[in-house]
Amino acid sequence: MQYRKIEKTGDELSVLGFGAMRLPTRNGRTDEKRATEQIRYAIDHGVNFIDTALAYMNEQLVGRILSDGYREKVKIATKIPAWKVDKPDELEKTIHVQLDNFNTSYIDYYMLHGLTEPTWKKSLKLDALSFLDRMKTEGKIKNAGFSFHGGKDLFKEIIDAYDWDFCLIQYNYLDEEYQAGREGLEYAAAKGMGIFIMEPFRGGNLTGKIPSEVQDIWDKAPVKRTPAEWALRWVLNHPGVTCVLSGMNEEEHIKENLRIAEEGLPHSLTGEELELVGEARDKYRELMKTGCTGCQYCMPCPAGVDIPRCLQTYDSLHIFQENKIRSQAEYALGLGILHEGQAAYASKCVKCGKCEERCPQELPVMELLDDVSGEMEGVITKIAPALIRVWIVFDRFMIGRRANVPHG
Ligand code: SF4
Ligand code: SF4
Repeated sequence: MQYRKIEKTGDELSVLGFGAMRLPTRNGRTDEKRATEQIRYAIDHGVNFIDTALAYMNEQLVGRILSDGYREKVKIATKIPAWKVDKPDELEKTIHVQLDNFNTSYIDYYMLHGLTEPTWKKSLKLDALSFLDRMKTEGKIKNAGFSFHGGKDLFKEIIDAYDWDFCLIQYNYLDEEYQAGREGLEYAAAKGMGIFIMEPFRGGNLTGKIPSEVQDIWDKAPVKRTPAEWALRWVLNHPGVTCVLSGMNEEEHIKENLRIAEEGLPHSLTGEELELVGEARDKYRELMKTGCTGCQYCMPCPAGVDIPRCLQTYDSLHIFQENKIRSQAEYALGLGILHEGQAAYASKCVKCGKCEERCPQELPVMELLDDVSGEMEGVITKIAPALIRVWIVFDRFMIGRRANVPHG
């Protein structure tokens, strides 16, 4: 296993981290036996970083998997969701529940979950930065960070607002300019922060059904690699990357990723190989319906539409010929309560035209959003915001109940 050191914390972490977001399931439930075997296998083969979140609803399960001496072999990362918290004192109640979940006295890497413009504003209102300071002083967390889903400017604003130890960003060869992107990665790396990467395979898009035009590009490479290996090697090639989180749930993928993690040294791809990855990226972009690069210059939208995310979900449906119902469900879940608790769907566009004035690609954004709402919106999108809100209220109630149980 290859390890990379975080300048700020001194921790040496395996370049492959186990993302516990997509653990194996059986009959619709997490298969605890298989998940335990998989995670412990990865740890036995050098992985020393496990990432989860309160919102993944599996912290207790991860806590059980890390019993029998495994807790001491890894750094635990988890996240606190600002969207579920209304008052500053609920932050503290929530972390106590999380510590209980893991049956541990401290969390190694603790994050504000999924920061975007609204969740960042809300975190500031909740005084979450003082909360992080306090938790560090009390030894309940070792390192403070955040996971991120906004644009580049917001990313830099957040980086400059606090003495962060690390951040978790989306990064893969197709999304090099999307969200924080390469620019954000390098901005944070220059401060000595740990840089954790999520979605190296773009949720499986870059490794699942590969368009034949892209496969033709991989087939001409002098060294034969799987699409997963190209994607992972491309991320690991950047020396600023500390650890790549992969949501693994198949034994063969774990073994393959462990091997790639050995070999994917910084700057190990040749110029010719990087050109090939660039060719694959260009081909994917050609296959996209919208041509949106995710640069976020069109944001914010006064009507609350998350324009890049709407266009990206729509593109994924077409490039990767995804299942339409699944794409609609992802669209509904991802955009259902994004903008200050309101849906950020394409259909909310009021045709003010501001986004088109700002788009460097000169895209007909309003027309594209009409196409997106026509294909992506339906019954699921109508009921999703209400269902998500009910779930949040229920979950908050359960956290409150558990936080009020005296600690023994
Ligand atoms: S045209 Fe629509 S999507 Fe674009 S900024 Fe105006 S309301 Fe938002
Ligand atoms: S619509 Fe244009 S400005 Fe907005 S993210 Fe896409 S490419 Fe960038």
